[in-house]
Amino acid sequence: MKPIGILGGTFDPIHFAHLRFAQEAAVSLQLREVRFIPAGRPPHRAAPGVSPQQRLEMTRLATSNNPLFLVDDREVRKETPSYTIDTLTELRAELGEQQPLVLLMGADAFLGLASWHRWRELFDLTHIAVALRPGYPHVMWADSMPDSLRSELHKRMAPQHRWLQDSPAGLISTLEITPLDISATKIRSCIGQDETPRYLLPDSVLAYIQQNHLYQGKA
Ligand code: ATP
Repeated sequence: MKPIGILGGTFDPIHFAHLRFAQEAAVSLQLREVRFIPAGRPPHRAAPGVSPQQRLEMTRLATSNNPLFLVDDREVRKETPSYTIDTLTELRAELGEQQPLVLLMGADAFLGLASWHRWRELFDLTHIAVALRPGYPHVMWADSMPDSLRSELHKRMAPQHRWLQDSPAGLISTLEITPLDISATKIRSCIGQDETPRYLLPDSVLAYIQQNHLYQGKA
């Protein structure tokens, strides 16, 4: 069965590396769709200066012209911090026990996974596909990986992407994507210094940022 991809993030703001990652994952893993889930109040990071509603709006603008992309606003609608384990539990209940789910994450996010709330239980609910990200070591030989995560990685490594179609959850796969050294941090600092981030993110998102005077003077 074709898996559903899930790309969670702060999307503060969403940029071309997120979109390209989702697109290449959709092709390589033969995904039925990719759901973008903007975090409401991320438990792992300082609250961003821009409202969850505005990050959601930018995610909608960036993804609206791709029929494979869907935006899920459940975390933004919640008052409390959104843990990935809770979101995935809800998705699993809605999509059924058999539907393969693949949580998409960059190497930076994966290397921090062992600090996530109830992280081991994630594997009961989803597969994980890790994209190599410029500036981060290949996950297979990252010295910075905690032993607990390394042992899960060795236990769960899928030799081929198509394995993710044959079971609903529990495997880890790596994904070679076009390396794009773009980050939301870089875009925010660009705007803060009065430089244009044009061509790092969609024009529609940049227009929204300008209309709403986001990220200015925050370098
Ligand atoms: P920030 O710079 O504010 O930390 P970010 O650009 O890393 O933000 P997030 O919203 O935190 O964006 O990322 C969402 C997901 O997309 C994460 O799993 C992250 O690893 C991944 N991601 C972000 N940028 C890239 C990139 N350039 N290449 C591959 N994956 C990426």
